[in-house]
Amino acid sequence: MMHEMSLCEGVIQLIEEQARAQQFQQVNTVWLEIGALAGVEIEAMKFGFDVVTKGTLAEKSKLIIVDKPGEAWCMQCAETITIKQRFDSCPQCGSYQLQVTGGEEMRIKELEVA
Ligand SMILES: [Zn+2]
Repeated sequence: MMHEMSLCEGVIQLIEEQARAQQFQQVNTVWLEIGALAGVEIEAMKFGFDVVTKGTLAEKSKLIIVDKPGEAWCMQCAETITIKQRFDSCPQCGSYQLQVTGGEEMRIKELEVA
């Protein structure tokens, strides 16, 4: 939970920086893309967002979570496959020789501002 709380604070900081740069006063909607392998609890993130946006320009904003699947390169199949969690095996061949290539990050995808 502490982890998501500080992530939420980071999100608000980014939004406030953008507000200064682009001169908007209020945020209506935040689309937050969270990779399946980012190690972020979605529910904790939603709760944390409500707490840290209090008194900020994002206080009344709606948070929309956009899931991004985990991606890895399978050496056996020689192609990119989708995994649900880190240390999963390849869904096609069962191999554990996977190299994670995507879905580890969290980023603000879009902001609807006023
Ligand atoms: Zn495979």
